[in-house]
Amino acid sequence: MRYLVLSDVHANLEALEACLKDAKRYGFKRILCLGDIVGYGAEPNECIELLRKKGAICLLGNHDAACVGQLSLEWFNPFARACIEWTKKVLSKSNKNFLAELPVFFSCKWLFAIHGTPSNPIEEYMDEQKAQLALRKVAEDVVLCGHNHIPFKVEQNRYLEPIAENELIDLNGKRIVVSLPAVGQPRDHNPKAGYAILDFEEKMLAIARVEYDVEKASEKMKKAGLPEFVAERLKKGI
Ligand code: ZN
Repeated sequence: MRYLVLSDVHANLEALEACLKDAKRYGFKRILCLGDIVGYGAEPNECIELLRKKGAICLLGNHDAACVGQLSLEWFNPFARACIEWTKKVLSKSNKNFLAELPVFFSCKWLFAIHGTPSNPIEEYMDEQKAQLALRKVAEDVVLCGHNHIPFKVEQNRYLEPIAENELIDLNGKRIVVSLPAVGQPRDHNPKAGYAILDFEEKMLAIARVEYDVEKASEKMKKAGLPEFVAERLKKGI
């Protein structure tokens, strides 16, 4: 079975729709979303509702948690905080309830998926050292995470390696942490939306990037009154 793995949608409906459309060619059966459906973008309700409609397995991210009072706003920089305050105002009750109930991890056979790290699921950022700790902490061989918005991989007892735009990662026989690119808020100087396809039987992970109407997403943010800085950096992927 193939999973479409998404992370850090950040209320960017244009980017989410582009990923769903592009990923169709892989014939995925289920969606696994590693957190931060909301925060920054102009369409939090629409993104949650689309993922709910598709029956996605969703995990809790730090922005999701903050929007439902499960994480202090003190945690965030002023731009992120302003976006969360805006999101809190526009989110429907039903969507808030949905976010409030999200689990922090998903595990199945050899796979462990989380927003941040196994030690600190929604706050801590994965890096080379944390990846080694994660592989010691969990029994599963493969850890997928988001939260960084920067794609990279770390095999057990190896150094961190960046991931190419359309890299195919063979997970067979490996203990490995993979940080996924962001769907709706890339930070690796590549403004394209990112996703991954996980083939569970083949144990292969395909990373993919797709162009989308970033201008439209950015304009919607400005019109909604979200910070100009956040709307502008979306176009640069930073
Ligand atoms: Zn995020």
